[in-house]
Amino acid sequence: MTALAALLIRRIDAQGPMTVADFMTECLLHPLHGYYSTRDPFGAAGDFTTAPEISQMFGELLGLCLAQAWHDQGAPSPFTLAELGPGRGTLMADVLRATRGVPGFHAAARIMLVEASATLRAVQAQTLHSYPGVTWANDVGALPDQPLFLLANEFFDAMPIRQYERGPLGWHERRVGHRDAVLQFGLSAPMPVPDRRFARDPLGSLIEICPALDNIGAVIGQRLQQHGGAAIVVDYGGWRSRGDTLQALCHHTPEDPLASPGQADLTAHVDFESLALAIASSRTGLTDQGILLERLGIGQRTARLASGLSGQALESHRAAHHRLTDPAEMGSLFKAIAFHAPGTAPPPGFDPDPDA
Ligand code: SAH
Repeated sequence: MTALAALLIRRIDAQGPMTVADFMTECLLHPLHGYYSTRDPFGAAGDFTTAPEISQMFGELLGLCLAQAWHDQGAPSPFTLAELGPGRGTLMADVLRATRGVPGFHAAARIMLVEASATLRAVQAQTLHSYPGVTWANDVGALPDQPLFLLANEFFDAMPIRQYERGPLGWHERRVGHRDAVLQFGLSAPMPVPDRRFARDPLGSLIEICPALDNIGAVIGQRLQQHGGAAIVVDYGGWRSRGDTLQALCHHTPEDPLASPGQADLTAHVDFESLALAIASSRTGLTDQGILLERLGIGQRTARLASGLSGQALESHRAAHHRLTDPAEMGSLFKAIAFHAPGTAPPPGFDPDPDA
C-alpha cells in the first residue's frame, strides 16, 4: 500500500467515501505524496511523454501561431504570455526561442506560468533561466488584468473530474471507499441529473463532469472579453465525451486508477464542449493536432531541421514528425481549440467554429 493510500483510507473512515475529484486531487497534488508534487514524470525514464518533449517543433509552431494572433490584434503591450501546467518548461522555452524574431513580442510579454507543483516550478525555472521576469501563480485567478495570450497542453486532462452513473432510481455519483483497506468504487444515493446536457442519456450511462473548467474558463473568458487575446488548448478528449475515461499511467503502462495512489499519473479525457461553454468568447472548431501542425508548416520545419541532421538523430527527428501528426499516433487523438476575443481574427491553422 502506498503512503497516500493509507492516509486516504483513514480519511474515508473518518469522513465517508470521497468523490473521484477529491481522490484525483489528492493523488496528483497532495503536498507530501502527490504525483506531481514529488517528481518530474516526463520522458522515457518517467511515466509519459508529451508533445513538447517529443520535438521542439511543437512549441515553435504554437508559439508562432500565438504571436500571429497577437500581431493580428494590434500587438498590444504589455500582455500576459501565460502557460497552464508547463511541466518541464519545454513548451515555453520553444515558444520563446521561435518568437525571438517577432518585432516587439518579447518586449511586450509578461510571462506567467500557472503551476501547482513546487518540484516542477523548480524545473521550469531552470529551463527558463535565461528569461528574467518569469512569474508563477497557483491559480488562473492571478492572471493580470491585461491582454492574455495563453497556451495549455495536457493541462486540462489533469483537472479532477466527478463521475456519475444512471441507474433505475436516478443518477448516482461514483465514490471512492474501501473494503478491508482495499480502495474500491461505490455509488451515492440517487440524485437528479448533474448536467442537463446528459438528461436523455440511457440507463447504465456514465458521464464525467470537471468542475474546475467552470472557474478556469470564466477567468480566461473574462480576460479575453475585457482586454483581448487568445488561448490555445491542446489535449485528448472530444466534444461531449461520454463513458469512463479515468486513466492511470505508470512507467508508460496503464494500471487500475485505485492501485497506487500518488505513484501513477491520473487523467481523464477533456470534454471540449464544456470548456467552450465555460469560456465566454469567440472560438474555433475542434481541430486534430496533426492537421493543425501540418497547416502551421511542420512539414517545412521538419525538412529544414533535417538538413542539419544525419544517422540516428535524423531518424528520430523524422519519427517525431510522424508521432505528432499521424492519425494512428497523436495526430487525431489529440485535439486543439483556440479561443479569441470577440471581433478578432482566430489564430491561424484552426478549423472555423461550426456554430458561427
Ligand atoms: N504541459 C506540459 C505538462 C503536462 S502535465 C507538457 O506538455 O509537457 C500537467 C502539468 O499541470 C504539470 O506541470 C502539473 O504539475 C500541472 N498541474 C496539474 N494540476 C494542476 C493544478 N490544479 N494547477 C496548476 N497546475 C497543475
